[in-house]
Amino acid sequence: MVKDTKFYEILGVDPSASEAQLKSAYKKGALKHHPDKNAHNPDAADKFKELSKAYEVLSDPQKRSIYDQYGEEGLEQGGMGGGMAAEDLFAQFFGGGGGAFGGMFGGGMRDTGPKKARTIHHVHKVSLEDIYRGKVSKLALQKSVICPACEGRGGKEGAVKTCTGCNGAGMKTMMRQMGPMIQRFQTICPDCQGEGEILRDRDRCKRCMGKKTIVERKVLHVHVDRGVKSGHKIEFRGEGDQMPGVLPGDVVFEIEQKPHPRFQRKEDDLFYHAEIDLLTALAGGQIFIEHLDDRWVTVNIPAGDPITPGMVKVIKGQGMPSFRHHDFGDLYVQFDVKFPDKTQLQNVAMLESVLPPRPQQTLPPPDSMVEDFELAEVDARQQARAHGANDDDDEDVPPGAERVQCASQ
Ligand SMILES: [Zn+2]
Ligand SMILES: [Zn+2]
Repeated sequence: MVKDTKFYEILGVDPSASEAQLKSAYKKGALKHHPDKNAHNPDAADKFKELSKAYEVLSDPQKRSIYDQYGEEGLEQGGMGGGMAAEDLFAQFFGGGGGAFGGMFGGGMRDTGPKKARTIHHVHKVSLEDIYRGKVSKLALQKSVICPACEGRGGKEGAVKTCTGCNGAGMKTMMRQMGPMIQRFQTICPDCQGEGEILRDRDRCKRCMGKKTIVERKVLHVHVDRGVKSGHKIEFRGEGDQMPGVLPGDVVFEIEQKPHPRFQRKEDDLFYHAEIDLLTALAGGQIFIEHLDDRWVTVNIPAGDPITPGMVKVIKGQGMPSFRHHDFGDLYVQFDVKFPDKTQLQNVAMLESVLPPRPQQTLPPPDSMVEDFELAEVDARQQARAHGANDDDDEDVPPGAERVQCASQ
């Protein structure tokens, strides 16, 4: 009988599940709840962490047996070497908290190969300006390193003895009489409290207090290359935590582009929304666009080549630099034309000499009843209703311009 079924429930398996069943349940859940796939669902990140933690415990036969007997508490008290909680491990690295999903733990699945400390994933948020120009971010992290004073032994040379009670395993198999049955179960070794080693207090290393590792600050130089895209990963092999007896872990930074107030980016192209007045739209003029590298781009709008509302034009080569290539995407400009209001208009009749004549309207048949009406102003509520009725009309937006338009509203 297990003490607590929580971790099994998180994975959606029975407490009698085999290792293979646990593994497949974890893989399924982790794929479904991975924060990369659930950018708009913060609950998924929590769920993902829970899954990783549950699987980390249940996939390790020693930890699973402690958990089955003593529940989560037992794991905490047992001080199982390396079984640091995901959150703690992250806090130690990035000084607590970090970004929204700073602590995404892709891990939990290190099934083969030599034992290695966990990979730390960190999302590095970068502005579009920095991606345009490229930069080197200096990111400081706190990490565990092997204590230099005792070289990771925890105490004076020769002072650390393997526990004889458990032969260094930290766990012991005990027998218990249960009526007519003898139950065998595993428990934390009482002689060494699960450490597997015995060390007298006075032999304990003063530098690390016997913990074998100390926390050190390390600055990593993360190269944000020109044109890099969200989701790109930069890996620092062996720069993660060090622990005695295992390979040092890796640190992985994932680039995430921050939203930009002026530009939207689609692959290597940029989209910009420009509002111009009716005179400029018809009779030409200039607009100025502040680019991402302190340059201003002057755009000439020729006279007599009308810009209509929603029209999209392109400026070649003014988009983003392509990642690891030496060319650039394009800059798409979508125009919004602002019409003058009635107080700004003069000599309207002169427009008749500029604009094409009014098209012929379909006249009512000669014997129809005809009534005269005037147009009245529409209040805000009526306007909202009129817009609601036309909701499907959004389809006429030129291709690629949808995002520009959404952002402008
Ligand atoms: Zn030490
Ligand atoms: Zn022991």
